Amino acid sequence: MSTERIDLKGVAAVRLQRSRRARRLRICVLGPDTVRVVVPPRESLARAKAFVESKKEWIARQLVLLQETTLLDPDTILNTKKAESELLIRLETLSRRFGLPFSKAVIRSQKTRWASCSGKNTISLNIRLYLLPPPLADYVMLHELVHTRIKAHGPAFWNTLEGFMEDAKHRDRELRRFRLT
Ligand SMILES: [Zn+2]
Repeated sequence: MSTERIDLKGVAAVRLQRSRRARRLRICVLGPDTVRVVVPPRESLARAKAFVESKKEWIARQLVLLQETTLLDPDTILNTKKAESELLIRLETLSRRFGLPFSKAVIRSQKTRWASCSGKNTISLNIRLYLLPPPLADYVMLHELVHTRIKAHGPAFWNTLEGFMEDAKHRDRELRRFRLT
């Protein structure tokens, strides 16, 4: 794997990353100084550069979106008990509506994840979900409820989730505008 840079004037320095496993050119915008283009083995450097140039506006927009993230601070929740019970009631409602039972639900205050679903189908919800726009909190909960059936994030998982919530992937992207810490 070799690395080189493409200077996208006024936007970012894009790092080129050769990957033996990659099948197509792909851009990852991870942060203001971390934009990468993943290049498959047979792809030429010139094509990678042209690809990055053609995506200049999109990259610039992703960088703006990254700067516009909102930090969700659990200390701003005035009534924690109320927040907890509302989240649990919502999870129960979605579980019934979509026929996705779980074994137990707990509320946590994790700094790294919105929610999780254990091997025994215990769903942990982050108290910060209470501060999210409701459609995004619903997305997170439904995502975990689908994990009670399918653990891995493969095509079967996304197909099932999108069957229940057709704009799930859009909501997943929207979620990136909110930070936990
Ligand atoms: Zn997941």
